[in-house]
Amino acid sequence: MRALLALALLLAAPAPAATERAGSMAGVTIIDRLDVADLPAGQRQDFWFRAGETQLAQSWLVPVIVVKGARPGPRLLLTAAIHGDELNGIDVIHQLLARIDPATLSGSIVAVPGLNTPGLMLSQREWTTDDGRAQPNLNRVMPGMEGGRDIDDYAGRLWSRLLRPNADRAVDLHTQSRGTRYVLYAFASTPETRTMAELVAPDIIKLDTGEKGTVENELTRDGVPAITLELGGPEVFDATMVTRGVAGLTNLLRSMGMIAGTARPSDPATFVANSITVVRAPRAGYARLLVPLGASVTAGQPVATLSDAFGHVTDTVTAPVAGRVNTIVTDPRRPRGGMLLRIVWWSTDPKCAMGC
Ligand SMILES: [Zn+2]
Repeated sequence: MRALLALALLLAAPAPAATERAGSMAGVTIIDRLDVADLPAGQRQDFWFRAGETQLAQSWLVPVIVVKGARPGPRLLLTAAIHGDELNGIDVIHQLLARIDPATLSGSIVAVPGLNTPGLMLSQREWTTDDGRAQPNLNRVMPGMEGGRDIDDYAGRLWSRLLRPNADRAVDLHTQSRGTRYVLYAFASTPETRTMAELVAPDIIKLDTGEKGTVENELTRDGVPAITLELGGPEVFDATMVTRGVAGLTNLLRSMGMIAGTARPSDPATFVANSITVVRAPRAGYARLLVPLGASVTAGQPVATLSDAFGHVTDTVTAPVAGRVNTIVTDPRRPRGGMLLRIVWWSTDPKCAMGC
Protein backbone atom coordinates (compact mmCIF):
# COMPACT_ATOMS: atom_id res chain seq x y z
CA MET A 1 0.00 0.00 0.00
CA ARG A 2 2.76 2.37 1.01
CA ALA A 3 4.64 1.55 -2.21
CA LEU A 4 1.51 2.25 -4.26
CA LEU A 5 1.05 5.59 -2.48
CA ALA A 6 4.66 6.50 -3.18
CA LEU A 7 4.20 5.60 -6.84
CA ALA A 8 1.01 7.71 -7.07
CA LEU A 9 2.82 10.67 -5.49
CA LEU A 10 5.72 10.22 -7.90
CA LEU A 11 3.37 10.19 -10.91
CA ALA A 12 1.47 13.22 -9.65
CA ALA A 13 4.62 15.27 -8.96
CA PRO A 14 5.45 17.92 -11.56
CA ALA A 15 8.37 17.11 -13.84
CA PRO A 16 11.61 18.67 -12.60
CA ALA A 17 12.41 21.98 -14.27
CA ALA A 18 14.47 21.46 -17.38
CA THR A 19 16.13 23.81 -19.82
CA GLU A 20 13.44 25.30 -22.07
CA ARG A 21 14.69 26.06 -25.57
CA ALA A 22 12.86 28.60 -27.73
CA GLY A 23 14.76 28.60 -31.02
CA SER A 24 18.04 30.20 -31.93
CA MET A 25 19.54 33.44 -33.23
CA ALA A 26 22.72 33.47 -35.33
CA GLY A 27 23.52 30.03 -34.02
CA VAL A 28 23.00 30.87 -30.33
CA THR A 29 20.24 28.92 -28.58
CA ILE A 30 17.49 31.05 -27.03
CA ILE A 31 16.21 29.75 -23.68
CA ASP A 32 13.35 30.53 -21.29
CA ARG A 33 14.75 28.43 -18.46
CA LEU A 34 18.12 26.92 -17.61
CA ASP A 35 18.95 23.77 -15.72
CA VAL A 36 22.65 23.00 -16.04
CA ALA A 37 21.95 19.42 -14.93
CA ASP A 38 20.49 18.57 -18.34
CA LEU A 39 23.35 20.04 -20.39
CA PRO A 40 26.12 17.77 -21.69
CA ALA A 41 29.23 17.62 -19.49
CA GLY A 42 32.64 18.78 -20.70
CA GLN A 43 31.36 21.65 -22.86
CA ARG A 44 30.92 25.39 -22.96
CA GLN A 45 27.63 26.70 -24.33
CA ASP A 46 26.40 30.25 -24.94
CA PHE A 47 22.70 31.14 -24.69
CA TRP A 48 20.36 34.08 -24.99
CA PHE A 49 17.94 34.07 -22.04
CA ARG A 50 14.54 35.72 -22.57
CA ALA A 51 13.95 37.96 -19.54
CA GLY A 52 10.51 39.30 -20.41
CA GLU A 53 9.34 41.72 -23.06
CA THR A 54 10.07 45.29 -24.09
CA GLN A 55 7.27 47.79 -24.71
CA LEU A 56 7.66 46.85 -28.39
CA ALA A 57 6.61 43.28 -27.51
CA GLN A 58 10.09 42.01 -28.33
CA SER A 59 12.22 39.97 -25.95
CA TRP A 60 14.76 41.39 -23.55
CA LEU A 61 17.73 39.12 -24.20
CA VAL A 62 20.38 38.45 -21.55
CA PRO A 63 23.63 36.61 -22.45
CA VAL A 64 24.42 33.45 -20.51
CA ILE A 65 27.60 31.37 -20.68
CA VAL A 66 27.67 27.91 -19.14
CA VAL A 67 30.92 26.00 -18.77
CA LYS A 68 29.96 22.55 -17.59
CA GLY A 69 32.92 20.52 -16.44
CA ALA A 70 33.65 16.96 -17.46
CA ARG A 71 33.57 16.04 -13.76
CA PRO A 72 30.79 16.68 -11.24
CA GLY A 73 31.13 19.46 -8.69
CA PRO A 74 29.59 22.67 -7.38
CA ARG A 75 27.90 25.35 -9.45
CA LEU A 76 29.41 28.84 -9.26
CA LEU A 77 27.18 31.66 -10.49
CA LEU A 78 28.88 34.84 -11.78
CA THR A 79 26.79 37.89 -12.65
CA ALA A 80 27.78 41.33 -13.93
CA ALA A 81 26.29 44.70 -14.82
CA ILE A 82 23.03 44.52 -12.89
CA HIS A 83 23.81 48.24 -12.86
CA GLY A 84 24.07 49.16 -16.53
CA ASP A 85 27.09 51.48 -16.34
CA GLU A 86 29.26 49.05 -14.32
CA LEU A 87 31.23 47.20 -16.97
CA ASN A 88 34.40 45.67 -15.49
CA GLY A 89 32.59 42.51 -14.39
CA ILE A 90 31.63 41.77 -17.99
CA ASP A 91 35.30 41.70 -18.96
CA VAL A 92 36.16 39.64 -15.87
CA ILE A 93 33.66 36.97 -16.98
CA HIS A 94 34.83 37.07 -20.61
CA GLN A 95 38.51 36.81 -19.67
CA LEU A 96 38.05 34.19 -16.94
CA LEU A 97 35.90 31.85 -19.01
CA ALA A 98 38.30 32.06 -21.96
CA ARG A 99 40.86 30.36 -19.67
CA ILE A 100 38.62 27.61 -18.31
CA ASP A 101 38.90 24.23 -20.00
CA PRO A 102 35.64 22.26 -19.57
CA ALA A 103 37.63 19.02 -19.91
CA THR A 104 39.46 19.71 -16.64
CA LEU A 105 36.70 21.60 -14.78
CA SER A 106 34.81 19.97 -11.89
CA GLY A 107 31.30 21.38 -11.61
CA SER A 108 29.79 24.25 -13.59
CA ILE A 109 30.26 27.96 -14.02
CA VAL A 110 27.06 29.76 -14.95
CA ALA A 111 27.87 33.31 -15.97
CA VAL A 112 25.68 36.25 -16.95
CA PRO A 113 27.92 38.97 -18.45
CA GLY A 114 25.26 41.71 -18.48
CA LEU A 115 22.12 41.34 -16.34
CA ASN A 116 20.60 44.75 -17.04
CA THR A 117 20.10 44.95 -20.82
CA PRO A 118 18.15 48.25 -20.89
CA GLY A 119 20.58 49.89 -18.44
CA LEU A 120 23.57 48.76 -20.51
CA MET A 121 22.03 50.22 -23.67
CA LEU A 122 21.60 53.62 -21.99
CA SER A 123 24.72 53.42 -19.75
CA GLN A 124 22.45 53.86 -16.75
CA ARG A 125 22.86 52.31 -13.33
CA GLU A 126 19.12 51.81 -13.16
CA TRP A 127 16.85 49.44 -15.07
CA THR A 128 15.22 51.89 -17.39
CA THR A 129 13.65 51.91 -20.78
CA ASP A 130 12.70 55.57 -20.92
CA ASP A 131 14.24 58.65 -19.30
CA GLY A 132 10.84 60.04 -18.41
CA ARG A 133 9.79 57.11 -16.25
CA ALA A 134 10.78 55.90 -12.83
CA GLN A 135 14.22 54.31 -12.95
CA PRO A 136 14.22 51.51 -10.43
CA ASN A 137 17.29 49.71 -9.14
CA LEU A 138 17.29 46.13 -10.44
CA ASN A 139 19.56 45.22 -7.52
CA ARG A 140 16.85 46.08 -4.99
CA VAL A 141 13.91 44.15 -6.44
CA MET A 142 15.17 40.55 -6.31
CA PRO A 143 13.64 37.95 -6.26
CA GLY A 144 11.14 39.85 -8.40
CA MET A 145 7.76 38.50 -9.44
CA GLU A 146 7.20 36.71 -12.70
CA GLY A 147 4.01 38.06 -14.26
CA GLY A 148 4.33 41.36 -12.36
CA ARG A 149 5.02 44.83 -13.76
CA ASP A 150 7.92 45.11 -16.23
CA ILE A 151 10.92 45.24 -13.90
CA ASP A 152 9.33 42.80 -11.43
CA ASP A 153 8.67 40.35 -14.26
CA TYR A 154 12.22 40.84 -15.62
CA ALA A 155 13.74 40.25 -12.17
CA GLY A 156 11.40 37.36 -11.41
CA ARG A 157 12.25 35.50 -14.60
CA LEU A 158 15.97 36.01 -14.01
CA TRP A 159 15.70 34.85 -10.44
CA SER A 160 13.44 31.81 -10.74
CA ARG A 161 14.43 30.52 -14.19
CA LEU A 162 18.15 31.29 -14.37
CA LEU A 163 19.99 32.47 -11.27
CA ARG A 164 18.60 30.73 -8.19
CA PRO A 165 18.15 27.21 -9.65
CA ASN A 166 21.73 27.06 -10.97
CA ALA A 167 23.80 28.35 -8.06
CA ASP A 168 25.57 26.79 -5.10
CA ARG A 169 27.72 29.90 -4.59
CA ALA A 170 27.68 33.26 -6.31
CA VAL A 171 29.71 36.39 -6.98
CA ASP A 172 27.87 39.50 -8.22
CA LEU A 173 30.30 41.87 -9.99
CA HIS A 174 29.89 45.67 -9.75
CA THR A 175 31.83 48.95 -9.83
CA GLN A 176 31.18 52.34 -8.26
CA SER A 177 28.71 54.66 -10.01
CA ARG A 178 29.37 57.47 -12.48
CA GLY A 179 31.58 60.22 -11.03
CA THR A 180 33.01 57.94 -8.32
CA ARG A 181 35.47 55.09 -7.96
CA TYR A 182 36.11 52.16 -5.60
CA VAL A 183 39.18 50.17 -4.68
CA LEU A 184 38.77 46.42 -5.25
CA TYR A 185 36.14 45.97 -2.61
CA ALA A 186 33.95 43.08 -1.44
CA PHE A 187 30.78 42.96 0.63
CA ALA A 188 30.14 39.92 2.83
CA SER A 189 27.31 39.30 5.29
CA THR A 190 28.17 36.00 7.01
CA PRO A 191 31.34 34.24 8.21
CA GLU A 192 31.11 31.89 5.21
CA THR A 193 30.82 34.71 2.69
CA ARG A 194 33.65 36.58 4.45
CA THR A 195 35.83 33.55 3.72
CA MET A 196 34.75 33.69 0.06
CA ALA A 197 35.63 37.39 -0.03
CA GLU A 198 39.06 36.74 1.49
CA LEU A 199 39.79 34.20 -1.25
CA VAL A 200 39.22 36.90 -3.89
CA ALA A 201 41.92 39.06 -2.20
CA PRO A 202 40.31 42.50 -2.49
CA ASP A 203 41.86 45.65 -1.01
CA ILE A 204 38.98 45.94 1.46
CA ILE A 205 36.20 43.68 2.73
CA LYS A 206 33.17 45.38 4.27
CA LEU A 207 31.09 43.20 6.58
CA ASP A 208 27.55 44.25 6.05
CA THR A 209 24.15 43.21 7.35
CA GLY A 210 22.87 43.40 3.79
CA GLU A 211 20.07 45.09 1.90
CA LYS A 212 16.75 43.79 0.78
CA GLY A 213 16.43 42.88 -2.87
CA THR A 214 20.09 42.52 -3.85
CA VAL A 215 21.36 39.48 -5.74
CA GLU A 216 24.00 38.93 -3.04
CA ASN A 217 21.79 39.17 -0.01
CA GLU A 218 18.73 37.38 -1.40
CA LEU A 219 20.89 34.46 -2.55
CA THR A 220 22.73 34.28 0.79
CA ARG A 221 19.43 34.36 2.71
CA ASP A 222 18.12 31.60 0.45
CA GLY A 223 21.06 29.31 1.23
CA VAL A 224 23.44 30.24 -1.61
CA PRO A 225 26.52 31.97 -0.10
CA ALA A 226 27.15 35.06 -2.23
CA ILE A 227 29.37 38.14 -2.24
CA THR A 228 29.27 41.44 -4.10
CA LEU A 229 32.62 42.36 -5.66
CA GLU A 230 33.21 46.00 -6.63
CA LEU A 231 35.91 46.59 -9.24
CA GLY A 232 36.91 50.25 -9.49
CA GLY A 233 34.98 52.75 -11.56
CA PRO A 234 32.15 52.69 -14.14
CA GLU A 235 31.96 52.84 -17.93
CA VAL A 236 35.37 51.30 -18.69
CA PHE A 237 37.19 48.01 -18.98
CA ASP A 238 39.97 48.72 -16.48
CA ALA A 239 42.74 46.21 -17.24
CA THR A 240 44.24 46.33 -13.74
CA MET A 241 40.92 45.72 -12.01
CA VAL A 242 39.89 43.04 -14.50
CA THR A 243 43.20 41.20 -14.06
CA ARG A 244 42.80 41.27 -10.29
CA GLY A 245 39.19 40.13 -10.56
CA VAL A 246 40.15 37.19 -12.77
CA ALA A 247 42.97 36.22 -10.37
CA GLY A 248 40.65 36.42 -7.37
CA LEU A 249 37.93 34.30 -8.96
CA THR A 250 40.55 31.79 -10.12
CA ASN A 251 41.62 31.44 -6.49
CA LEU A 252 37.97 30.98 -5.44
CA LEU A 253 37.55 28.25 -8.09
CA ARG A 254 40.64 26.51 -6.70
CA SER A 255 39.28 26.68 -3.15
CA MET A 256 36.03 25.09 -4.35
CA GLY A 257 37.98 22.23 -5.95
CA MET A 258 36.70 23.19 -9.40
CA ILE A 259 40.10 23.73 -11.01
CA ALA A 260 43.58 22.40 -10.21
CA GLY A 261 45.92 24.25 -7.91
CA THR A 262 46.23 25.19 -4.25
CA ALA A 263 44.15 28.15 -3.14
CA ARG A 264 45.76 30.97 -1.18
CA PRO A 265 43.43 31.38 1.85
CA SER A 266 43.64 35.18 2.14
CA ASP A 267 45.86 38.15 1.41
CA PRO A 268 47.36 39.73 4.56
CA ALA A 269 47.05 43.12 2.83
CA THR A 270 43.24 42.92 2.77
CA PHE A 271 41.68 45.38 5.23
CA VAL A 272 38.49 44.15 6.90
CA ALA A 273 35.97 46.75 8.05
CA ASN A 274 32.57 46.61 9.68
CA SER A 275 31.64 50.30 9.62
CA ILE A 276 31.54 53.09 7.07
CA THR A 277 31.51 56.89 7.30
CA VAL A 278 30.61 59.17 4.40
CA VAL A 279 32.59 62.43 4.22
CA ARG A 280 30.43 65.10 2.56
CA ALA A 281 30.97 68.57 1.11
CA PRO A 282 29.89 71.23 3.66
CA ARG A 283 28.94 73.53 0.77
CA ALA A 284 28.82 73.38 -3.02
CA GLY A 285 32.06 73.79 -4.95
CA TYR A 286 34.98 72.13 -6.62
CA ALA A 287 36.53 69.30 -4.64
CA ARG A 288 40.26 68.59 -4.59
CA LEU A 289 41.14 65.38 -2.79
CA LEU A 290 44.25 65.36 -0.62
CA VAL A 291 44.46 61.56 -0.17
CA PRO A 292 44.44 58.82 -2.80
CA LEU A 293 41.94 56.01 -3.10
CA GLY A 294 42.85 53.23 -0.68
CA ALA A 295 44.81 55.51 1.67
CA SER A 296 44.95 54.96 5.42
CA VAL A 297 43.77 58.13 7.17
CA THR A 298 43.75 59.29 10.78
CA ALA A 299 40.95 61.16 12.53
CA GLY A 300 41.35 64.90 11.94
CA GLN A 301 43.59 64.49 8.88
CA PRO A 302 42.74 66.91 6.03
CA VAL A 303 41.30 64.82 3.19
CA ALA A 304 39.84 67.36 0.74
CA THR A 305 39.44 71.03 -0.03
CA LEU A 306 36.51 72.81 -1.61
CA SER A 307 36.95 75.86 -3.83
CA ASP A 308 34.50 78.39 -5.16
CA ALA A 309 34.05 79.31 -8.83
CA PHE A 310 37.07 81.67 -8.66
CA GLY A 311 39.40 79.07 -7.15
CA HIS A 312 39.36 80.43 -3.60
CA VAL A 313 39.54 77.61 -1.07
CA THR A 314 36.43 77.82 1.08
CA ASP A 315 36.83 74.69 3.22
CA THR A 316 39.37 72.13 4.29
CA VAL A 317 37.55 68.92 5.11
CA THR A 318 39.01 66.49 7.65
CA ALA A 319 38.50 62.79 8.29
CA PRO A 320 36.01 62.25 11.15
CA VAL A 321 37.38 58.75 11.84
CA ALA A 322 40.53 56.72 11.24
CA GLY A 323 40.31 54.05 8.55
CA ARG A 324 40.79 53.36 4.85
CA VAL A 325 39.44 55.36 1.92
CA ASN A 326 37.34 52.90 -0.06
CA THR A 327 35.55 55.39 -2.37
CA ILE A 328 36.43 58.75 -3.89
CA VAL A 329 34.65 61.16 -6.18
CA THR A 330 36.22 61.52 -9.61
CA ASP A 331 33.89 64.35 -10.65
CA PRO A 332 35.07 67.46 -8.76
CA ARG A 333 31.73 69.29 -9.06
CA ARG A 334 30.10 68.79 -5.70
CA PRO A 335 26.64 69.86 -4.57
CA ARG A 336 26.16 70.85 -0.93
CA GLY A 337 26.15 67.60 1.03
CA GLY A 338 27.58 65.63 -1.88
CA MET A 339 29.91 62.73 -1.14
CA LEU A 340 33.65 63.46 -1.25
CA LEU A 341 34.90 60.11 -0.07
CA ARG A 342 34.01 57.27 2.22
CA ILE A 343 36.12 55.83 5.01
CA VAL A 344 35.68 52.26 6.18
CA TRP A 345 36.87 51.29 9.63
CA TRP A 346 36.68 48.66 12.34
CA SER A 347 34.27 49.23 15.21
CA THR A 348 34.89 47.32 18.44
CA ASP A 349 31.20 47.65 19.40
CA PRO A 350 29.96 44.03 19.70
CA LYS A 351 26.77 45.06 17.86
CA CYS A 352 28.91 45.82 14.82
CA ALA A 353 30.85 42.54 14.76
CA MET A 354 29.24 41.50 11.45
CA GLY A 355 28.62 45.00 10.14
CA CYS A 356 27.00 48.26 11.08
ZN1 LIG B 1 26.49 48.29 -8.73
